[in-house]
Amino acid sequence: MYEITKKLRNLKPYDPVEGSYKIRLDANESFFNLDGDEKVRVMDCISEISFNRYPDPNATQVCAAFAEFYGVNPKYVVAGNGSDELISIIAGSFLEKGDSILTFTPDFSMYAFYSKLYELNIINMPKNDDMEIDVEAVVKYCNLNNIKAVMFSNPCNPTSVGIKRDDVIQLVKNLDCLVVVDEAYMEFWNQSIIDMVDKFDNLIILKTCSKAFGMAAIRLGFSIACEKITNALKAAKSPYNTDSLSQAIGTVIFNQKEYLRENTVELLKSRDFLYNETLKLAEEFPNIIKKLYKTCTNFVYFKSSRAGEIYKSLLEKSISVRCFDDSMRITCGSKDENEILILAMTEILSKMKDN
Ligand SMILES: *Cc1c(COP(=O)(O)O)cnc(C)c1O
Repeated sequence: MYEITKKLRNLKPYDPVEGSYKIRLDANESFFNLDGDEKVRVMDCISEISFNRYPDPNATQVCAAFAEFYGVNPKYVVAGNGSDELISIIAGSFLEKGDSILTFTPDFSMYAFYSKLYELNIINMPKNDDMEIDVEAVVKYCNLNNIKAVMFSNPCNPTSVGIKRDDVIQLVKNLDCLVVVDEAYMEFWNQSIIDMVDKFDNLIILKTCSKAFGMAAIRLGFSIACEKITNALKAAKSPYNTDSLSQAIGTVIFNQKEYLRENTVELLKSRDFLYNETLKLAEEFPNIIKKLYKTCTNFVYFKSSRAGEIYKSLLEKSISVRCFDDSMRITCGSKDENEILILAMTEILSKMKDN
């Protein structure tokens, strides 16, 4: 009888929030779908595709459009099938089985997921109560414990907290091992280190189209790193990892700079509204919402020992958010969605207070 490996037998498929809820605030997506003009541009570019041909393995055009958008040299850029794929390639190819990788808790779950899949030794360093990282302590720990890579999101999903640019630079500068900085939410903050990419030979920055740019459907992410790392990544990826549709659509989108910037401004307004309203709730119900973190992202994150109850009550009202053991993450939505959510939360928290 054929037996699959032990590591696969115990593996569970990714479990997103499922079901058809009226209001989806659980996955940090943008609430903007492509609008009329952009949709026409996308349809036009799709009609130009040679569907019988393999895609460009280097995704040259979309990497160039991406590089121009961020003002980086295109020779430092690799496109991935979502940044998820790039995380997988890094964990599987830049480290060897049994190597130690340092991650922080809480952080994006995919770092530990792929590290486990590739049989790395995962060291989880807990964050402090403010969800911050002590850079000096991390450097010391890595150097003493033969850590081969450090991987984290900045700003962080799920905590919404950011690490200042100077601290991240100190970290990269003082470590010899690989440092992967996932800037999936940096559109919502101003502490990117993307301009530093050619200064270090141990740094990979990851970006995605799935969040601020509202393109989660096309699965397109990017890495930015020095030439040595970029060449290694290109060699390790599967040749046609991004398809012609994603490449073409991505190129159109990155050339619509004004559109992307305007949408980001609107997302930030929505985020500020959600944060301020949640702060009011935290002040009104201090025993339920224990700590609301200052957000650098398009979502809010707070501690609550009753997160599970709030989560269920929101689902009953057809609103889905993300719930962790003792905390909750809520993505900002459209004006209407935010207002409905806050009304629902007020009602739920008031009832909870009574009993
Ligand atoms: C959503 C998210 C991603 C996933 O990006 P894809 O490009 O959609 O794979 C990566 N990193 C973090 C921190 C995220 O929150």
